[in-house]
Amino acid sequence: MNSKQKKKSPIVVIVSISCVLLIAILGSVYYKYYIAQSSVLQNDTKNEQQSEESDEVDGTNKVDDPNSESSVTEPPEDNPEKKPIDSTTESEQPSTEPEVVNGYLVEQQPATEPTYVKGVLIVNKKIPLPANYNKGEDPTAVAAFEKMAAAAKAEGIELVAFSGFRSYEYQTSLYDRYVAKDGKDAADRYSARPGYSEHQSGLAFDIGEKGREDVWLTSAFGETKAGQWLVNNAHKYGFILRYPLGKEDITGFMYESWHFRYLDGDLATKVYEAGVTLEEYLGIE
Ligand SMILES: [Zn+2]
Repeated sequence: MNSKQKKKSPIVVIVSISCVLLIAILGSVYYKYYIAQSSVLQNDTKNEQQSEESDEVDGTNKVDDPNSESSVTEPPEDNPEKKPIDSTTESEQPSTEPEVVNGYLVEQQPATEPTYVKGVLIVNKKIPLPANYNKGEDPTAVAAFEKMAAAAKAEGIELVAFSGFRSYEYQTSLYDRYVAKDGKDAADRYSARPGYSEHQSGLAFDIGEKGREDVWLTSAFGETKAGQWLVNNAHKYGFILRYPLGKEDITGFMYESWHFRYLDGDLATKVYEAGVTLEEYLGIE
């Protein structure tokens, strides 16, 4: 008997322990369910009396039955409480975005270093050069222009680079003069503020045709034989039409049929073949 009892007793113990555990599990599940249900009722009446316990339960409520909670109990309070959190984070984004006027960042500090994007010196309305960036005409760019001018001359077109490097000081006097003449908003469309002119890089040229000074600095130049020749051939010599027609919102400047930018290597050809602006090609916002 003793030996039988000893053999049976572990089974009895295991079964009884299993029963106790099962009851305990069922009990705890029911208890959680009960608490969850009762907390819904509590939330209905006592939102302010949320204890640490009901915070935990609150989390399960939101996952379990968000619809019944919001539709039955408190839709007018609950939804406005949740949605303003989203809308405030959304409305914070525009307010934290820098203010832009005529393409310029209102609170931008003067540059202390030139900016290179993927190895390319960039000057635009959001990326200025330091006032002391004063390297003059880039000799490689000048040589490239002369090579291009020789090729054009062979086809009966005499190109003139009538404006190249401009110092920060010179651009200041130029811009101030335009502002006095046409006002700041108009001047910002066709002339860069000091520090923001690509001419300060020594890599930009305003190009015209000798004998057609009447269309220099006008969009009409782009329709002349010389202007068309440049559009189709400048990239072969390392130049791109920097401010194409219809891209003012990207480049910040109105169409300038005369303004060409020198780029190293075959980058000009790549930009030309991509049919995009320099900003787009380099992924500059
Ligand atoms: Zn120019």
